[in-house]
Amino acid sequence: MAATTAPSAGASEMPFTPENLASERVGPVGVNELQCHLTLLQWFKGLEQGDTAMDFRQLLLAEVRYTQWLQLLVSWQGPPEYLPLPPIDVAYLWHAHMLTPVKYAWDMYRLTGDTRLLAFSLPLHGYNDTYGQTQEHGLLKSGAEYWIQATGLPYHLDPTVEPDCKVACPWCRHKYSCSWDTMIELRTQRSPKATLKCPACDALWNRDTVSGQIFWRDVLWHLEDPDHRFLRGTQYSPVQWSELQSAIEKDHTILFDGLTAATVNERISSWKSCQWHNILREFNEVRYRAKRRRRLRGIRSTTIPNMIRAYREVNGPCSLDLGLAVLRQRSFTQSITSITWSDSESLGIAIQRYKMFMGLMKGKRCRVLVPTLDVDLAWHTHQLFPKQYARYTIFSTGQHINHDDTYSKSRLNTQFALTAKLWLKKYKTPYTASPPKATVWDHLKVTLAAISGLSDSPMARRLSARQQLVPSKKDLKRSGEANDGGGDGGEQPQSGAVGDQ
Ligand SMILES: [Zn+2]
Repeated sequence: MAATTAPSAGASEMPFTPENLASERVGPVGVNELQCHLTLLQWFKGLEQGDTAMDFRQLLLAEVRYTQWLQLLVSWQGPPEYLPLPPIDVAYLWHAHMLTPVKYAWDMYRLTGDTRLLAFSLPLHGYNDTYGQTQEHGLLKSGAEYWIQATGLPYHLDPTVEPDCKVACPWCRHKYSCSWDTMIELRTQRSPKATLKCPACDALWNRDTVSGQIFWRDVLWHLEDPDHRFLRGTQYSPVQWSELQSAIEKDHTILFDGLTAATVNERISSWKSCQWHNILREFNEVRYRAKRRRRLRGIRSTTIPNMIRAYREVNGPCSLDLGLAVLRQRSFTQSITSITWSDSESLGIAIQRYKMFMGLMKGKRCRVLVPTLDVDLAWHTHQLFPKQYARYTIFSTGQHINHDDTYSKSRLNTQFALTAKLWLKKYKTPYTASPPKATVWDHLKVTLAAISGLSDSPMARRLSARQQLVPSKKDLKRSGEANDGGGDGGEQPQSGAVGDQ
C-alpha cells in the first residue's frame, strides 16, 4: 500500500515518520496486536448466524457462559497471561464488555473490590495462533480441558441444542419454558414493550421490571453482606482508585438509610415495586428527606445517575446489555474486515493517529470526539488491555476515556465535524488526509470522555444536577404500558438520602 500522504515533518506536532511506522506502539499495542485483533474479528464474523433468532439465542446462551467465565477470572491464582483460552463465544462477549471501558471497570471492580481483574487482557495472540485450527491444537486443547473441568459445560457452544428458553420467574421462582422468540423480544430493543406473564404468579416481565428486580436484589445483597459490597456504577473512580472506600460507604449509608432486609424483600416480591418509575420516586423521596436534614452534600453527585445508568433496562449480569453491545459492534467489524490491511505501515499510521486523537482529549472533560475507522481499530485494540488502557488514558488525558457507541447518527456527524476542526487546528493537517484507504472514513464512532459520573469535576456535577430524577410523563407512560399503570404497593421510601447538587 502506498505509504501515506502524510504531512511533512514540522507541519504538525506529531509528524509521521515512515521509517518507524512498523514499530509504532501505544503501550502493549503494536502493529502485530492490530493484526491479531483483525484475525479475531474475522473469527467473530464467522459466529454470526444467518438466522436472526438463532443469532440472539447464541448470544443469550453465551451470556450465561460469560458469567461463569467471570467467576473463573476471580478464582484464577496464576499470572493473568497464563490463563487458558476461553471458548470463542465467551471471548465474543468479553470483547464487547471491554469496549465500554468505564462500565467494564465498574463491573470488574465490583467482583473483587479492587482493580486486579483489569490486569486480564483479551488473549489476542492465542486466538490469532489458533484461528482455523482444530481442537487438537495445544492452546485450544488446554483451554477446553480447563473450561470443561471448571464449568461442566461444552467448550463449543451449539445454540441448536436448546430448543426452548428455560426461565425462572424473578418474583415467585416458578420454573418454566418460553419460546426463544419471546425472550429475544424481551431482551432486545426490537420490541421495548414486550412482556411475559408468569403462569404461576401473573407477574409481568419486561425490560423495566426485570431490571428493577435486579436493582432491589443488589440492594438486599448490599444490606445483608457483612462486607457491604456495593451497587453497580458506584465503586470505581477513574482518578482516585485507592481513596474512595469511605466516600462509597457514605453514599450507600445515606442512600439506603432506614432500609432493612425485610423492607427490601417486600419490594423484591412485588413486580410493581420493581417498576422504575417507582424506584425513581423513591430516589426523589430520599433526596427530599436528605435536603431537609441537610445531608445533601454527603453523597457524591455521580452516584445516583451512575446507578440508574448501570441498572435501568439492563437485564443481564453486567452494567450494560452485552448481547446488544455485540450487535452494535458488528457494523464496525464489517467495515474494518472489508479493508485489506496489506502492510504494517498503514497499521502503524493508525496507531500514530490514535495517539494524536487521544491528544485532542487532554484535559477536556465532556468532549465527544469521533474517530475514523483506522483510529477506531487502534483504539479498540488498546481497550482489550484494560489496565494499560486505563493507565495510558489517565496519564495522557487526565481521565479514563470511555467509549460509547450508542450515539445517534446526527450527533456523530456533528461531533465528527468538531473532531476534524480540532485536529486541523492542533496538528495543522486535515483529519482525513492520510487514509490507508478512502473507506476508512466511512464508519463513524464516538468517544465520550468523563461525562457526568465519571469524575467529580465541577462540569460533572453540573451535568448530574441536570439529570432528571423525577420520572417524566413519558417515563410513567412507558412503564405503565406494560401493566395497568399499577401503583407501588403502598411502600414508602425508607431511606434518608442525598442528591447531587
Ligand atoms: Zn411468578
